[in-house]
Amino acid sequence: MTEDINENSLNDFINQMKRLRVINGIGTMTSLGGNVISNDVIESMKHISNIFINMDDLSKLAGDYISKRLDVEAAYITSGASSGIVLGLSALLSIKFGIKYIQQIIDKGQTQFVAVQRPHKTEFTDLITLVGPQILEFGNEKIVTKESLIDTLVRMRGKVLAIVHFMFEPMNGTLPLENVLEIAHSFDVPVIVDAAAELPPKENLTKYYRMGSDIVLFSGGKMMGGFSNSGLMIGKKHIIDAVSKIGPLSEELTLKGSKIFIGRPMKISKELIVATLVALENFLKFDEDTWMDEIYNRAKYIQREISHIDRNLTAKVVYPLWNHPRPSNIPRVEIKFKDGKSAREVSLSLKKYKIPIYTYFDGNKLYINPQCLTDEDISTLMEGVSKVLKSTKRKKDDRT
Ligand SMILES: *Cc1c(COP(=O)(O)O)cnc(C)c1O
Repeated sequence: MTEDINENSLNDFINQMKRLRVINGIGTMTSLGGNVISNDVIESMKHISNIFINMDDLSKLAGDYISKRLDVEAAYITSGASSGIVLGLSALLSIKFGIKYIQQIIDKGQTQFVAVQRPHKTEFTDLITLVGPQILEFGNEKIVTKESLIDTLVRMRGKVLAIVHFMFEPMNGTLPLENVLEIAHSFDVPVIVDAAAELPPKENLTKYYRMGSDIVLFSGGKMMGGFSNSGLMIGKKHIIDAVSKIGPLSEELTLKGSKIFIGRPMKISKELIVATLVALENFLKFDEDTWMDEIYNRAKYIQREISHIDRNLTAKVVYPLWNHPRPSNIPRVEIKFKDGKSAREVSLSLKKYKIPIYTYFDGNKLYINPQCLTDEDISTLMEGVSKVLKSTKRKKDDRT
């Protein structure tokens, strides 16, 4: 009897959950579920979900596989690019001061600074402070010169744990990674590159590493096609070895009981390791050029169809600047309203459509990213846009 009730309420939950589905015209956003996971990736987890395994061994095996596959010194699967920032900085503290326990890392962390160029200040930058360091900005909003970095490193000599470089290029006025690496390394300061959303192209997987970056981070849950709570760290072996020592899977048995390390709240499961590795493998094999053509055609199609909806709008296909959800090489449809309709209002009304439609807006422009849209989504989106624009119009007409 109770079982029946449970089953019914579980069915209710599943039905309610399905009704939460939205149409994602923004991109691989964490807040919209990351991305869709292929059957291959789901299936791959069954190889490991029914057995126990030494997690350290599994993590090392996966790291070795990936480092060979990408021809990099070392690789580590994390619970996201964000956790890579925290783990990477913790590992650098551990190396610099010969420490490993949580309290030691946070104590030493508080004596340190992490340099970030001013225009790179984003919602992710504050993560740096989680392990203690203060953020040290160099350059200003408009221009970041080599001198501004050199001055900072001279002034704070010995106290700069790392530079965290957010891959938002091309971004006017910023100091390119190439210069950052050269200057930082001349002061023996390591560089962590957050390239979370810089895929495609695939070549970016190793590009920043090959330029000499010490650690490079990617999200597993964006273009790579893994779970939203997965990520990939590649880089110098001695740093990644230190990451694994203080990482999510490490425990130390002492006479007083066992000790965990700072990585524990960023735990990864055996299933996540396998799924991320398989997602990466699929990503390496996928035909990027064909896919990029297809995305472009989809953008063109949306642009044409949208243009037919309303004479008062103009739509074109653009490659967005850095401040959009990344990456910037995926084309978006940019829509402007000649009759003074507000892009924000249209975007908010689309969110209230019977199936909520998520779009991005910036100033008076509305943006649609075709990346996460199926053909069916696109028809619903057209329907939604058409209805929303009509009702916005009607409201205006009512008033006159
Ligand atoms: C998405 C993103 C992150 C966060 O990555 P997660 O894998 O979700 O932790 C960090 N930095 C940048 C630049 C991003 O685009």
